[in-house]
Amino acid sequence: MAVAETQQPIFEFTGNNMCLDFCNTLQDRASAPRELLTSYDKLLLWGQQAHILTEDEAHLLNKEAQHHKEEAAAVLQQAIDLREAIFRLLLAKIQGSSPDEADLDIFNAALSKAMAQSCIVPGEHGFERSWLPKKRALDRPLWPVVRSAADLLTTKALEDVRICASDTCSWLFLDTSKNHTRRWCDMKSCGNRAKARKHYSQKKQST
Ligand SMILES: [Zn+2]
Repeated sequence: MAVAETQQPIFEFTGNNMCLDFCNTLQDRASAPRELLTSYDKLLLWGQQAHILTEDEAHLLNKEAQHHKEEAAAVLQQAIDLREAIFRLLLAKIQGSSPDEADLDIFNAALSKAMAQSCIVPGEHGFERSWLPKKRALDRPLWPVVRSAADLLTTKALEDVRICASDTCSWLFLDTSKNHTRRWCDMKSCGNRAKARKHYSQKKQST
């Protein structure tokens, strides 16, 4: 079962930010797009690798999805629509253009849904943010992504969102480099392509 395949290097986490890593589940967006979220199981796998879901939670959702295949397929489509809306909202900001109303609508609908599940629980230093214990909600992996995007879109960090300088890639990342000079998503292929063209001047950054 896919949840057990956690060692498969399908996803990369080079965005320095959860919602950017989520946007990067589509490869080579600008040239020959390749979808990495090809099934609901893959969404769970991403959630696990992003530390949104524990292995047990992913197993439970996987079981639940097997009993509600149509709903799982709908959640996968919802995830992809949400991802594309987040990408376009961020791209509009990067390009200095106005965001599309339709994308705001998609995002805000997902935000309302996610925030309805948000709560606080006692934590190490007082309280911490958490989610209502609806372990069987198939769209659960999306809630933290939506919150991550809402946080990013409304804070100063938005200024540091960059798009990979490769003309085929379009992956996003948060440029936390000292001089704000990071140009590549750091995906191995982009780095290598750039290196081949002798444009690659940065060492792989630890994220
Ligand atoms: Zn790239």
